[in-house]
Amino acid sequence: MSKLLKGKPVADEVYAELAQRTETLRADGEALQLAVVTVTGDPASAYYVQAKRKVAERIGIGFRLYEFAADCTEADLLACIAGLNADPAVHGIMLELPLPKHLSTSRITEAIEPLKDVDGVTPASKLALLTGAPGLVPATPQACIRLAKHYGYSLSGSNVTLVGRGKTVGMPLFHLLQREQATVTVCHSRTRDLKQHLAHAEIAFVAVGFGGLVTSGMIHPELVLIDAGMNERPDGTIAGDVDPDAGAMAAAFTPTPGGIGTLTTALLFDNVYKAYELQRAAGQKEGHL
Ligand code: NAP
Repeated sequence: MSKLLKGKPVADEVYAELAQRTETLRADGEALQLAVVTVTGDPASAYYVQAKRKVAERIGIGFRLYEFAADCTEADLLACIAGLNADPAVHGIMLELPLPKHLSTSRITEAIEPLKDVDGVTPASKLALLTGAPGLVPATPQACIRLAKHYGYSLSGSNVTLVGRGKTVGMPLFHLLQREQATVTVCHSRTRDLKQHLAHAEIAFVAVGFGGLVTSGMIHPELVLIDAGMNERPDGTIAGDVDPDAGAMAAAFTPTPGGIGTLTTALLFDNVYKAYELQRAAGQKEGHL
């Protein structure tokens, strides 16, 4: 019987830590605030924005929404981000992606102040991830690592197979796994024999963006399988990249929904707190100059 690696107990742990921290801040007269910038037109983004608003309200973190019409200009978004960068009451900025095609995602994400970049998308955040310097790391790869550790799976020295090397999940997760001293095999669209790479894995992380790639015949009974995929089915429900029947062949696997996505939301808000700490440290440094 496969063990189900649920995200909720881990997310609850993160929320409990956050509640303590926000309480301490409140006692000092400070309140964390997340600003979300979104362009209308993408139904998934609209759903995620509302989900974040609900969590923010529940855990007592301020939430500001900046919603732009689908025909807005790059200048509109850049002006909004410049205002948020300069606003000391805003600790985290998140730009909902994807943007409409007439807008340059790279130019707009690059405009976000790295100390407020809670989604870890700016070049400075990516460089920090690579070098190990202080910086903000995207929430989903963090969720993958934290979930594995929570359930007692040691990454140090383990054979880990990563399926997918995308910008959002796979590549940042690769860097985090290196920091954790895992021995990592990275599989991608040119990989010839995925089954062979899963056969020698103790832990596998999957983030490819579609289902049906990892089949039950590729899974061995000792494998710990962590699925970061979030795909919308035609009926509007959410599925992972790994079919639950295939996941059930592993020693342990993550449900979707209720797995990595649940923990990702919690860690996004944890990043708002980390952003606050980075801003405070940078302010103190400036004050000493
Ligand atoms: P992405 O940028 O589209 O990358 C997909 C990766 O899959 C690429 O590295 C690609 O290889 C690889 N791939 C494609 N076909 C393959 C094959 N046949 N065999 C092995 N690898 C293959 O994806 P992403 O943005 O990182 O997202 C990955 C998944 O995570 C998606 O399902 C997304 O919805 C999910 N996600 C979840 C959360 C959450 O909160 N849980 C948050 C963000 C994203 P190449 O590099 O060779 O093209």
